[in-house]
Parts: sequence; C-alpha cells; structure tokens
Amino acid sequence: MKYTPTEYVALNIWNDDDGATSVQRRVVKTRKPQTCTAPLRSHDIPPGTMALCEKAIVPDEGRVSCYACTDCLDRMIDKEARYEATGMYA
Ligand SMILES: [Zn+2]
Repeated sequence: MKYTPTEYVALNIWNDDDGATSVQRRVVKTRKPQTCTAPLRSHDIPPGTMALCEKAIVPDEGRVSCYACTDCLDRMIDKEARYEATGMYA
C-alpha cells in the first residue's frame, strides 16, 4: 500500500452503469480468495491481501461485493498523478 485507505476509498473505479447503488466502500484485508476487478486487469487476489471492497446493490442481482487490490489502485493513482503533472497519460 503506497497510499492511505482514504485515498483508495476516494477512487471511483467502478462505474454505476448497471444501476448499482454503492452502500459501503472500505479497505479490507481479504479473508477468502477474491477476484480483483480493477479496470486494468482481472486477476485473483489471495487471502490476506489488502484490497478495496465495495458493497453495492445491483438491480436483479441484489447485494454484491467488488474487490480491487491495492497494487492495481497504486498504479491507477500513479497514472492519475502523472496526468496531473504532465497533462498526458504516459
Ligand atoms: Zn489487482
């Protein structure tokens, strides 16, 4: 984790196109294997990994939880910082 939980929670990485309503977003340590759903790439998250967890209510599906590992989030924040500094995505 390069950043603080607050910075990870502030990221808007999941769009709400499916009508999902976010009910909770926080940084957790995973207890079970999860799938990282950060936009960059999808991969498995082993238990015991720090990850951003969003609980949401999706029409037709009910309650769902999404996870994104902090490694992917670090890369997203880095990219954003670079964009703000240089005006372009490198
Ligand atoms: Zn990841």
